Amino acid sequence: MTRTPACVLIVEDELPIRRFLRPAVEAAGWRLIEAETAQRALLEASQSGPDVIILDLGLPDFDGIEVVRRVREWSSVPIIILSARGQEQDKILALDAGADDYVQKPFNVGELIARIRVALRHAASQSQPSANPTIVAGDITIDLHRRVVTKGGQEVHLTPLEYKLLTTLTRHAGMVMTHRQLLREVWGPGHAEDSTYLRMFVRQLRLKLESNPTQPKHLQTEVGVGYRFVTE
Ligand code: CA
Repeated sequence: MTRTPACVLIVEDELPIRRFLRPAVEAAGWRLIEAETAQRALLEASQSGPDVIILDLGLPDFDGIEVVRRVREWSSVPIIILSARGQEQDKILALDAGADDYVQKPFNVGELIARIRVALRHAASQSQPSANPTIVAGDITIDLHRRVVTKGGQEVHLTPLEYKLLTTLTRHAGMVMTHRQLLREVWGPGHAEDSTYLRMFVRQLRLKLESNPTQPKHLQTEVGVGYRFVTE
């Protein structure tokens, strides 16, 4: 059985970065399409049907955030932002506009390839609901059918909001969620700015689930941006 290789669209105006990425993407068995402007990116996104988009924010014609907004009008293809330091606010805007993850420049190519893999896996699992609704992360298991969470085989009692926060994060396992996204999904649209709430609940979850709550392995902080649930 031959499978069509996944198609990766990289949107980046710097040729050295595209050159640097090409062999790594091809070695991973994916097909690579390149775009150096936002206009070209929109064209390729609609015509080539990429399975994942790697998107630089600083593009010569218009902003990468605008690319996210326009693509999200018609597509749920995973978008990973490739952002330089000093673009913190832009990165958050892009994530809130519907991007799924980000990788900081200068970046490690192995890390970017791993993030692409997570995004492709996530997209595949969204298109076919899981037959096994149990999430395992180290000694933590989350049985989504029975709504039971255990750690080391012992049931952990979570409040309804803690459970909702945890499962919101695990639905996007491996990918970052911004403070705003989490607040909106867990507490509702009126609470998008209450980040103190969020910090408090994450702290509670870590105390209940992490072996070392001050050095969390699964409920990771993305400084200034949000949180990421990591399974391994
Ligand atoms: Ca650029």
